[in-house]
Amino acid sequence: MQYHSTRGTAPALGFEDAMLAGLARDGGLYVPAEIPRMDAAAIADLAGRPYEEIVLRVIRPFTGMAESRLSDLIGRAYAGFGHDARAPLVQLGPNHFLLELFHGPTLAFKDFAMQLIGQLFQDAMRRRGQRITIVGATSGDTGSAAIEAFRGLDNVECFILFPHGRVSDVQRRQMTTPAESNVHALAMDGDFDDCQAAVKEMFGDGAFRDRVGLTAVNSINWARVLAQVVYYVSAAVSLGAPHRAVGFTVPTGNFGDIFAGDIARRMGLPIDRLVIATNRNDILHRTILTGDHRKEGVEPTISPSMDIQVSSNFERALYMAYGRDGRAVAQLMDELKSDGGFAVSQGALGSLRDTYASGRASEEETRATIRDMHRRTGQTLCPHTAVGVKVAEEHIGASPMVTLATAHPAKFPDAVEAATGQRPALPPRMADLFDRPERVTRVANDIPALQSLIEDRIA
Ligand SMILES: *Cc1c(COP(=O)(O)O)cnc(C)c1O
Repeated sequence: MQYHSTRGTAPALGFEDAMLAGLARDGGLYVPAEIPRMDAAAIADLAGRPYEEIVLRVIRPFTGMAESRLSDLIGRAYAGFGHDARAPLVQLGPNHFLLELFHGPTLAFKDFAMQLIGQLFQDAMRRRGQRITIVGATSGDTGSAAIEAFRGLDNVECFILFPHGRVSDVQRRQMTTPAESNVHALAMDGDFDDCQAAVKEMFGDGAFRDRVGLTAVNSINWARVLAQVVYYVSAAVSLGAPHRAVGFTVPTGNFGDIFAGDIARRMGLPIDRLVIATNRNDILHRTILTGDHRKEGVEPTISPSMDIQVSSNFERALYMAYGRDGRAVAQLMDELKSDGGFAVSQGALGSLRDTYASGRASEEETRATIRDMHRRTGQTLCPHTAVGVKVAEEHIGASPMVTLATAHPAKFPDAVEAATGQRPALPPRMADLFDRPERVTRVANDIPALQSLIEDRIA
């Protein structure tokens, strides 16, 4: 399977090279040259199978990997989840279901992709006899998922920069309590944008990049999108696919999660609605409504993992909507950079609207949804999930609607307690999180100092 860049000029790569590269050399994102199809019989044959087996059948055609090796890596990736179903469904109301994606080690859906990518990276590095250094910036969920995924792996060192004093206690402790010496939590003076700028600058230093074997695992990595295709399939099959169509509503920020749903549909899964749910940072909702994709300032909300105005994976959706015209996408991305926005062409807007519906939830609506669901069903929603549930309720029709529950409520205890009056507890397997010793290095926003710290640690 070959992968093409959304900007059309970088060389096509195979699965493993596209995964290790992350971003394409022309600044684009990798997309499979064609989408493998699953016919109705193949989908029907997934019913009742363990999650790991569905992973294998869904992703293998994209990877070209041998069955036994891939199966082994998948088994290791999901062994640390706290639920046998991995991604269980619960019912919220008539025709409305919640897909719980928070049973992984850091209690957010990012574990589904990050745990698998950790295994795939380690396997590739062993075979190539190479070492890599992962450096990432996080506002909370991605960094904890990365540290959990890479802790203790061979040939991989992992450094995560987070803004000192600006992540939740649970998020910080998930990054600072793993004891393995190959993972490093760095608390930087500054905000998330400073952390991200520091990482970008290190990637821009070609000599440093080559010396340490610098690699990124941010949300644009194709392997992360691919791992997320699987739970759309497992959920739809549980609710009657291929014989019945299913809708999905997805709390959306960087667009990686919902784009995986579009891939599942292109593979042949009967998805009749794919709904983008945004908080008041609603650039994606405005784009679908008006065709104008324009940045406004980011406003902080109680669903911080969706506080985004530059939605990096949306570039993949544009590429599909423009009929895989890389030149057109490159031009839009230039306009976004120089003018802060662009207008989607009529044809592409029609195609986006055929693929996605959208909605948004205000802060008040999000809080009210957490409160009401708690009262009506006993379910406690995290604030991101509540944005999804609110938007999904506006789109429920004759077929089942599944809202993706992207994080466990205990990851955002303050917002949940303010809405319900009850503080959500961590799952028992994590109850000692606040007793474990922390290991963290305070760092200044000083690129040369950061670079020498990284080189010293990996020496
Ligand atoms: C990352 C994240 C999101 C947004 O997912 P995208 O793939 O960036 O659209 C939503 N909710 C939670 C809890 C997250 O951690």
